[in-house]
Amino acid sequence: MIIFGTKGCLYQLAILTLVCGGCGNPAAHTLRKHVTKFTLFFVPLFPLSTKYTTQCTFCGTEQKVTREQAERLRAQAGSGDGGRTHGQPRQPYRS
Ligand SMILES: [Zn+2]
Repeated sequence: MIIFGTKGCLYQLAILTLVCGGCGNPAAHTLRKHVTKFTLFFVPLFPLSTKYTTQCTFCGTEQKVTREQAERLRAQAGSGDGGRTHGQPRQPYRS
């Protein structure tokens, strides 16, 4: 007997401030990736479909975005404070 099916996985990629298409507010949106995987004996083997959405945290409106849009948004979100390194020069302390 072969048991197969699908399994949905949800990944949160970023949180961005966008003007919402539903409520018109510049609110925080979560960028999410929905992956549906083919499973065999409950083991996920390969992804069947991948889609990206943004969801307004203010009113809950969910909008589909393309992979290209999602990657651009993710890059925008990452450019803020994610890429900072620890090598900040120390100011000499003067007394
Ligand atoms: Zn909204």
